[in-house]
Amino acid sequence: MSTSFTLHATDGRARTGVISTPRGDIRTPAFMPVGTAGTVKAMLPGSVRATGADILLGNTYHLMLRPTAERVHRLGGLHKFMNWDRPILTDSGGFQVMSLADLRKLTEHGVTFKSHIDGSKHEITPERSMEIQRLLGSDIVMCFDECPALPATDEAVADSMRLSMRWAERSKLAFGDRPGHMLFGIQQGGVTEELRAESARALTGIGFDGYAIGGLAVGEGQEAMFGVLDYAPEMLPADKPRYLMGVGKPDDIVGAVKRGVDMMDCVLPSRSGRTGQAFTRHGVVNIKNARHQDDPRPLDEACTCPACRDYSRAYLHHVFRSHEMISGMLLTWHNLHYFQEIMQGIRDAIAAGTFADWEAAFHAGRAAGDIDPL
Ligand SMILES: [Zn+2]
Repeated sequence: MSTSFTLHATDGRARTGVISTPRGDIRTPAFMPVGTAGTVKAMLPGSVRATGADILLGNTYHLMLRPTAERVHRLGGLHKFMNWDRPILTDSGGFQVMSLADLRKLTEHGVTFKSHIDGSKHEITPERSMEIQRLLGSDIVMCFDECPALPATDEAVADSMRLSMRWAERSKLAFGDRPGHMLFGIQQGGVTEELRAESARALTGIGFDGYAIGGLAVGEGQEAMFGVLDYAPEMLPADKPRYLMGVGKPDDIVGAVKRGVDMMDCVLPSRSGRTGQAFTRHGVVNIKNARHQDDPRPLDEACTCPACRDYSRAYLHHVFRSHEMISGMLLTWHNLHYFQEIMQGIRDAIAAGTFADWEAAFHAGRAAGDIDPL
C-alpha cells in the first residue's frame, strides 16, 4: 500500500517514468483532465479512461461548497461517488478561493471567504485543506498555498511565497502519516529566480512526495512561463515528480515537458470542447465556421476517437450550431483523446531518445494548418 516514483528514461531534460499508487500507475509525463465538481463535464468516467487518462484532478473549493467534503465522505469518498476508481489528485482550494470567492480575507491563519454559489461563509486553513482532501479520499494531496495575482511587486511576491512556505510546513504536519497517499509541496516565487530558489530550499527542507510549480499560467504569457521553467524544475529533487499546475495548451505542454515537467492539468480540452474548439495535429479547428457545413470528411482522418471515427465535420458543425448536447460530448472526447495522444507520443519519444524529432514533427504539423476547405 505504498507509493513510488520511478524514472525510466530521460532525453535532454525531458523525463518519462511512472508514479505507482494503490489505485494504479500514472505514466509520466501525465496530463490530468479536470473533473471540477466530481465530473469531467460531458464525459462518462469510462470514456475518460478510454482516452488514456491515468488520473483525474478534483477541485477542493468546488467540492467543499457543494456537495461538501463531509457528504462525499459519508457516501464513500470521491472515487465511489463519481465512479472513478483510479488515482485522483485534488488541489488545495487556495487558487480558486483567490479566483472565484467573494470577500476574501487573508491572515497568517488562513483564508475566510464567501461562497460564490450562495454567499455562505467559509474558512480554509492548511489544516482544514488537509482535512477536506482526506475526507474526499484524494490520492495526491496538494499543500494549501497562496498564489498572488501577477503582476505584483517583488516584495509582495516574496511575502506571499514565505507565507505559502509556512503553510506548507503546517500542511505537512496536518497531513500526518498516510501510507498509500502522497503530499505535494508547491513552489512559489513568481518569475524571480532567487525567490523560486528560496521556495525550493524551504520545500525540500520539509520534504514532500512530489513538488508542484505554482503561480504560473496565470496570465504571464508563454515566454515568461518558459523563462521560469528554464530553471525552476531543476531546483526541485530529481527523484520526485514535478507538477506544473494549470497547464495548458498543447505547445505549452510540450515546452514544459522539454524543461523537465512530469505532470500537468488543464480545463482547456474539456472547456474548449463545449465551445466548439477542437485541438488537432494541424492546430485549432473552430467547428462553428461555415466552411465545415458541407464537409463530409472527419475532423482528423488519423484520429481514432468517436468524433473522428463516426462523424463528419458537417455533422459536428450542425450539432454545435443546433446547441445539441452531443456536440460538447464529441468535441470534449476528441480533445481529451488528442491531449492523451500527445502524452503517449512524448513518453514513447523520450524512451526512444527521439524527443527532439518528435517535437519538430509536432510543430511542423501545427504550422501546416488545417486541411484546405473543399
Ligand atoms: Zn478525434
